[in-house]
Amino acid sequence: MWDVPAHLVPIEGARRGVLRITRDASVAETLHSGMAREAAIGFTADVIHLPAIAQAELPPNLVPGLVRIAWDGGSPDGRIPELLRVGACLDLVPSDGALDALVECSEGGVMCRLVDLAAWTTAPEALASSLEHYLTSPRLEAPIEPWHSIARGIASRRPRDLSGTYDETLRRNYWLGEDGSVSLSERHAAGGLVFGRLEDGPEGWQQSPAWRALEARRRQPFLRRSTCAFCPHYLWCGAYAADDAGSPDPAWCGVWIPLFERLQEAADIAWAEAGEGEPEEYPG
Ligand code: SF4
Repeated sequence: MWDVPAHLVPIEGARRGVLRITRDASVAETLHSGMAREAAIGFTADVIHLPAIAQAELPPNLVPGLVRIAWDGGSPDGRIPELLRVGACLDLVPSDGALDALVECSEGGVMCRLVDLAAWTTAPEALASSLEHYLTSPRLEAPIEPWHSIARGIASRRPRDLSGTYDETLRRNYWLGEDGSVSLSERHAAGGLVFGRLEDGPEGWQQSPAWRALEARRRQPFLRRSTCAFCPHYLWCGAYAADDAGSPDPAWCGVWIPLFERLQEAADIAWAEAGEGEPEEYPG
């Protein structure tokens, strides 16, 4: 599975693409092929040859934090210097060792990102622990997503929902599968929401039922006046787990609302301690 860097696909407004290097690809060769300019690169921990990559001269345009490594949850085992050298961001799925890896890496200066939020939602205690670690660890050295984006949104009063944090914003992000199919993200592709094929181009994709369904999905909470439309956490959640009718999934909300409240509470305390007074109202 791989995505094509934006300069290879004439998508108006596209700024970067994501390239996932496969088990068979030469990582070093691909990194230096010029395709890695402003590209996010994903490796899986079992296939990368991290020491070799870390020792090689890196492409000058490689963006720190966008070398995404799908981590299996095991201990980084002394790899932190190499992860720092390549500007890695670890993508962590919930697993037995995920929290330990999260703590070790984020305190060692390596960015971490919780991926597959639906899966994390089924592990609510681990999810809450990751937030507490982000909020309270005195040794935290690197951001943890999605908490960091939400906290920055609260602090800057510039809301960014989970779709924005996870590169799932319609018209801005595209996912190109190995078979040439185009979708919004890997998650959407797996759910059957495919816009068409690469050769159809943006105009063709925007005519597809999947594109229209996703556009409608954004509007539904407000058209139908569902719970999401009145939810105080919509700015951060964006009805991430709402169905096609715009109705939220109670299991999702039951886990995430307390976490959004905890983040807001922490932000309010930080505001007060900084002597900033009450935060202003957010833009609608
Ligand atoms: S937390 Fe629940 S109700 Fe609030 S925006 Fe998200 S899905 Fe909708």
